[in-house]
Amino acid sequence: NDLGPTITIGEILVEIMATETGNGFSPPLTFTGPYPSGAPAIFIDQCAKLTNNAGIIATVGKDAFGEINIRRLQQDGVDISAISVDTHLPTGSAFVRYRDDGERDFVFNIVASAAGKIVKNQNTDTLIAKAGHIHIMGTLLSIPGAWEMAEYAIDVIKSRGGTLSFDPNIRKELITDDVFTQRLAYLLGKTDLLLPSGEEILTITESSNLTDAVKKTFAAGVIEIVLKQGKEGATSYHRNGKTVSGQAFQIKEIDPTGAGDCFGATYVSCRRLGMSLNESLTLANAAGARNVQFTGPMEGTSTLKELHKFIQNTPRKI
Ligand code: ATP
Ligand code: MG
Repeated sequence: NDLGPTITIGEILVEIMATETGNGFSPPLTFTGPYPSGAPAIFIDQCAKLTNNAGIIATVGKDAFGEINIRRLQQDGVDISAISVDTHLPTGSAFVRYRDDGERDFVFNIVASAAGKIVKNQNTDTLIAKAGHIHIMGTLLSIPGAWEMAEYAIDVIKSRGGTLSFDPNIRKELITDDVFTQRLAYLLGKTDLLLPSGEEILTITESSNLTDAVKKTFAAGVIEIVLKQGKEGATSYHRNGKTVSGQAFQIKEIDPTGAGDCFGATYVSCRRLGMSLNESLTLANAAGARNVQFTGPMEGTSTLKELHKFIQNTPRKI
């Protein structure tokens, strides 16, 4: 639809990565970075490259890390008018080291950084008032203050006919908290497009198998589900009964961080542009696969032209 931009709310971070794989952060290591990062930031950067119609509500510090992010997002066409600059807190950060088995060790500075301070003001109100779609990342549920902003934005956008996508990004350990569970249920009831990865759909619907989970998700009001399956590609389920599977592209994985965000942003953008499930899935699989070939989570976001070229030149798994 042409209601207005896709927007998101959440953390903007820099990511600083160990150059060698292994466990933990001791003894002292060599790192590369800072790279622009934060799941919502990667998502919105990818949306802007495809549609030139995307904005983010977030906060950075008044420092060099904040500048790196703002400059990148602006350069890629993101509406940065609702990014606040906090004069006291530093920009959020994530130090990461990949283990040999593909798992990751993190040191996060989010909640006590500028990234954890989402504030409502004239600029955020203006962006929300014109938005046609809002994307919510599960990480938002762990940022104090961000929830009120999300509820307000969802209310405004959905009541003017806009839509909502939700990427749970959930860790099982977190779902013990009552508030968290309530918010999750509220979100599912408002979600049009759900983008779970791996077992997340079982966790959030408290199901033991995929068939039940899909049924429960549609019963909650969701219209479309896209299951992200990493190296196995992805599958779309529409409430009207249509199911489409898309095979992954065959590539060498360099840095998996950000694949899910690029995938989601591309799927949402393509569907909003009116493309079919099948076409949207192909482009989204391409965006996820292309991103993991780059070091740095936001370095591999793609234009439509880059995606078409990638699709032409990359074999798909059978
Ligand atoms: P993230 O770690 O960013 O949260 P995610 O779990 O949300 O990731 P994934 O399923 O890992 O999402 O990746 C999203 C999509 O990216 C996949 O559905 C697939 O299309 C593509 N993708 C990811 N990793 C690979 C890979 N190694 N080879 C090919 N395609 C990949
Ligand atoms: Mg994910």
